[in-house]
Amino acid sequence: MKKIVVLGGGESGFGAAFLAKSQGLEVFLSDKGEILENYKQLLIDNGIEFEEGKHSEEKILSADWIIKSPGIPKKAEIIAKIKAKNIRLSSEIEFAAAFTDAKIIAITGSNGKTTTTSLIYHILKDAKLNVGLGGNIGTSFAKQVASEKFDYYVLEVSSFQLDDVQNFRPYISLLLNLSPDHLDQYNYNYEEYALAKFKIAENQENDNYFIYNKDDEMSQKLLEQLDLKVNKIAFSLKEKLSEGGFIENGTINVNFKDTFSMKIEDLSLVGNHNIANSLAASIASKILNISNENIRNSLMTFQAVEHRLENLPEINGVTFINDSKATNVNAAYYALESMTKPTIWIVGGTDKGNDYTEVEDLVKRKVKAIVCLGIDNQKIIDFFKDKKELIYSTSSMEEAVKVSKSLAKFGDAVLLSPCCASFDLFKNYEDRGNQFKQQVLKNHN
Ligand code: ADP
Repeated sequence: MKKIVVLGGGESGFGAAFLAKSQGLEVFLSDKGEILENYKQLLIDNGIEFEEGKHSEEKILSADWIIKSPGIPKKAEIIAKIKAKNIRLSSEIEFAAAFTDAKIIAITGSNGKTTTTSLIYHILKDAKLNVGLGGNIGTSFAKQVASEKFDYYVLEVSSFQLDDVQNFRPYISLLLNLSPDHLDQYNYNYEEYALAKFKIAENQENDNYFIYNKDDEMSQKLLEQLDLKVNKIAFSLKEKLSEGGFIENGTINVNFKDTFSMKIEDLSLVGNHNIANSLAASIASKILNISNENIRNSLMTFQAVEHRLENLPEINGVTFINDSKATNVNAAYYALESMTKPTIWIVGGTDKGNDYTEVEDLVKRKVKAIVCLGIDNQKIIDFFKDKKELIYSTSSMEEAVKVSKSLAKFGDAVLLSPCCASFDLFKNYEDRGNQFKQQVLKNHN
């Protein structure tokens, strides 16, 4: 019997262990930290052997196949030992994919993964396909493979899920864009990080599809270097394409099979980045033979995912937007670009080696005040020092929202788009977004 070891006892790790067990495989789960109570209970209920607070090396290194949760750092000591012993090592996504015949649509990129994954899922669901949603969103892919019978899976895939890919072969893969992120895990080498993302297409064959961004320089460069067998279909916001997705005269268009077209103003999501996301989602839908009418209706009705340019109720003529998920400069760039009103920008948190040059011009044009919130405020203050009369330093969400409200006039917008990680003052980006909403809506019914 094959011996499976799962590293990490969260959603993804439990899912992998549950799937292994349901396949009749011998499985042991090991977590160096603490396992949350609910997962511990699930492990016990399902008779899955586990340990926490340590990695028992002897047991781990005697496995035939080791499944790594995305949260385990690539450079963890145990990973080096597994690699030195040449034991098969997979991500949860790759492991689960080995146990299903469903068609997989896998989405990666530096920004826009959750939005585009949810968008494609929404279109397929509206079109009445039997489809599951997974990866970094909601219920783990592995758990669904063990307990559901879907014909399609739409999966959000991070670079950490792709690092150790050997066989993962989606029917359709999407690489939305590339910008430097998580470089601490990739030897501070942008190309190394970008190559991890390209692993999404590495095993695809000529009956599969790879959707990519023609405007993205790094994608374009690596595509020329790599010898991918897959069918490649591009989208662009800059040029008209004879095959693929593009914009023209206020419409989005896809030339693939036939022509799909709809007005940009009818898209429920706003901002140029979301036009790109909608183009990518439309191409995937055309490949799956969804009708133009279905795609159009779904793109009109899709609701923005929480914490991503999420509009809150207007208060005294001021718009409030929660973009807490903007944890890097590029995401905040698109948020600022989409602003149509004078903006009070709440920014800051734990700096990830940010270079604010990318947003300098947008800030000049659109931002009337900068409200810094977080441990690394000084860096933002120094960068935007020419604007210093408009910069405020705050140290809690309550204070940041209070200052923003006092600055905002009728017709202005307050945007939380932090460019930074949230762990200085908050549990995570959801907590940050929720606290923002709570403070905005305080004393308002
Ligand atoms: P991810 O799952 O890749 O982190 P999300 O859909 O959660 O992406 O969006 C994260 C942040 O990036 C949000 O602030 C969102 O507004 C912004 N964003 C969404 N799509 C794009 C895109 N195509 N390019 C740049 N930024 C984007």
